Amino acid sequence: MDFLVPSEPRPERSDKSPWKILIVDDDPDVHEVTRIAVAGCIFEDRPFELLHALSAEEARRIFVEEDDIAVALVDVVMEDDTAGLGLVSWIRSELDNQFTRLILRTGQPGYAPQTDVIMKFDIDGYAEKAELSRTKLITALVTALRGYKLVMSLETNRQKLKQLNMHFAAIVEKNALGDFASAVLTEITQLIGQPVGCFLCGLDALPDYGVVDKSNVRVLAALGEFADKTDLPVDMLGDDAIRLSVHACIESLSASSSPRGVALPLVTRNGMTGALFLAMPEAELEERVGSEVVQLFIANVALGYEKTGLLEHIRNLAYVDRTTGLSTFSGFLETFQRHVGKHTPLLVVHSDIQRFRVIVDGIGDEKAGAVLKKTGHRLSQTFPDALSIARKEKDEFLILLKGGGENRIEDVVARVEDAFHEPISLGDTQITLRMRLGFAAVDADEEQEAEQLVRHASIALNDVRQKGLTNHAVFHPLMQEAAFERLRLASLLTGGADKTEFFLHYQPIMHAQGESIASFEALMRFRTPSGSLLNTARMIEAAEASGLISEIGSWMFKAAFREFSEMSAVSDEVRLNVNLSPQQVQANRIYRDIEEAATAAGLSLSRLVFEVTEGLFLNNDQVTLSLLTWLRAKGAKVVIDDFGTGYSSLSYLRKLPVDGIKIDRSFIMNMDQDSDALAVIKSIVAVAQALDLSITAEGVETDVQRKLMQDLQCDYLQGFFYSKPLNSTDLATFVRKAVASEAAAG
Ligand code: C2E
Ligand code: CA
Ligand code: CA
Repeated sequence: MDFLVPSEPRPERSDKSPWKILIVDDDPDVHEVTRIAVAGCIFEDRPFELLHALSAEEARRIFVEEDDIAVALVDVVMEDDTAGLGLVSWIRSELDNQFTRLILRTGQPGYAPQTDVIMKFDIDGYAEKAELSRTKLITALVTALRGYKLVMSLETNRQKLKQLNMHFAAIVEKNALGDFASAVLTEITQLIGQPVGCFLCGLDALPDYGVVDKSNVRVLAALGEFADKTDLPVDMLGDDAIRLSVHACIESLSASSSPRGVALPLVTRNGMTGALFLAMPEAELEERVGSEVVQLFIANVALGYEKTGLLEHIRNLAYVDRTTGLSTFSGFLETFQRHVGKHTPLLVVHSDIQRFRVIVDGIGDEKAGAVLKKTGHRLSQTFPDALSIARKEKDEFLILLKGGGENRIEDVVARVEDAFHEPISLGDTQITLRMRLGFAAVDADEEQEAEQLVRHASIALNDVRQKGLTNHAVFHPLMQEAAFERLRLASLLTGGADKTEFFLHYQPIMHAQGESIASFEALMRFRTPSGSLLNTARMIEAAEASGLISEIGSWMFKAAFREFSEMSAVSDEVRLNVNLSPQQVQANRIYRDIEEAATAAGLSLSRLVFEVTEGLFLNNDQVTLSLLTWLRAKGAKVVIDDFGTGYSSLSYLRKLPVDGIKIDRSFIMNMDQDSDALAVIKSIVAVAQALDLSITAEGVETDVQRKLMQDLQCDYLQGFFYSKPLNSTDLATFVRKAVASEAAAG
């Protein structure tokens, strides 16, 4: 034991830890010779520190105490012939030390270990003691030290990676890409061991059909000098060198170096491209971290990115509308909840595309999808300040804006009108879209449920749809009452077994001159199971609002055409007037409904007069014009109902495919007291006559009104003065009397 030579004192010139070299030999001379040979040696700035063991057993003890022996020079023959090999086997197997480099030495030739031993125990060298000159010894040691250094760096890397793997498990747990990206940056900073400006950029959604739009690559997370770049598209990174480097990296899927740093590619299998940028020269990075670690790190990041991207994608399915890329309704509600009650007034806009159904019928579902996408795109461009823009369903969009107040609403309307001024082009088709908008606002500190506010905006939008007068409306509590009422009425219309009964009344329309029957107007009646009659105008409005009007209309055509064709005693000259709601006109089924009902009743369309409202012509759309042209070609007549209540100027009458007008009851009602009303009637009559349009006065209740209209050369009169709308029995009586009086008049 006393033979053990104490460790050499560390030379002053290096503060680095020495290489520990263990000499195992039962010959004390060998220790001495070796000591002299390596005295003062320095390798890579680190001195040598010799440890000495005189037996294999001694060596084992030292190995247990010292865990960082770089090289052991082991004598093969000591206590016994194989003591050296026994030690070597023990080091590698039992001690499980794979790092210490081992050099075997033997006194006599012929004791050379077999090759398999060298392989098995990872032996670095073998030498006969006689050969070990100073130079040879040092060369052997330095080679072994290099080997040691290499395996140790591999081991450190392995450890780092093991640690990385654990961290990765945690990172990959992150379900949101942003969190994942931040975790990656923290991790790489730790690996590097000092703060470094860096960012991770990539796509925030799975690309469609694997087509990667590189312009969508955004900064997902950033540290240091890039901290304020999070969320920015890579194209908007100020530094040209960095931007180009990142682009090159993503393009070539390989690392791209520039003086500003290095961009490492994230290579995934699903087309999620991305890159990790580090503001550090590539060489320095590899020096600090090791290139294998960098590679493994980046491969792991790519895997995590792919997985997190997928998760995000799945999450997005719930929050991103596939057709438009906008938010979904759920996403919208979530955003709303985050902002409500936060001292900002909010404005919800519920918008839809006027006559979208017609557009779809015209261009097909596929192109309709493109229309929706482009609409969404325009909305996004128009409202970069929106907190959320979502597609609710079909052609309905929701926009959540900060703000409120009248100006704001006018401002929004103007922006939308502006945005949709230009038509949307789909290949060679150009479509001009008209957006309708319903508004609902919530005050700064008001707590309100998102659903509630959206419902209010929808009620306002519904108001726009129904009235068809403007392109927008702001929610008012009265609207809600009206909406509830409509809902109640709609449920009366559809209420199962005890449902409301439909039937028809007919109101005669008389020739103004001669006062014989010219026509009957079919008017819907609704009776509840309990027997009470419901207000027709409100029920029709409810049917329109709930989309049931076409259904009811279809029933009405059948019933009216049949009852009318069965009426005996009316001449072939007498016509049947039916009302058409705008919604009915817009639906494709209208042609078939009318034709089938007419065929079933054996009624020619030339016996019919269709009453439409002015509102129908506001947009001058092809669907309306085609229907009216078709009806007229079949011999039917078309008249404008409630004329004078709309906005249309008289001059536009000229352009419409109609045969006549029905002057609204409100004018007739007031004409005997109100000179303005009379003046209006006179001018309407003058224009209509000039255009060769027939004129009907509705709501004629008094003899004075009747005479005035007769004097004005009006063609037809309708109103309580002659008859209320009648059921078929009463109508038969009316007809009989009328025919009799005609005969009497002779
Ligand atoms: P409208 O087309 O303007 O029908 C005339 C309305 O005025 C009828 O109300 C009728 O009863 C009423 N009226 C007729 N003469 C007089 C009068 O001298 N004085 C007064 N004060 N009122 C008179 P009704 O039957 O309640 O119908 C209301 C509205 O419902 C109709 O207005 C029409 O727009 C709609 N409607 C009725 N049936 C149908 C239908 O089958 N389809 C569609 N789409 N709409 C219908
Ligand atoms: Ca009518
Ligand atoms: Ca009318």
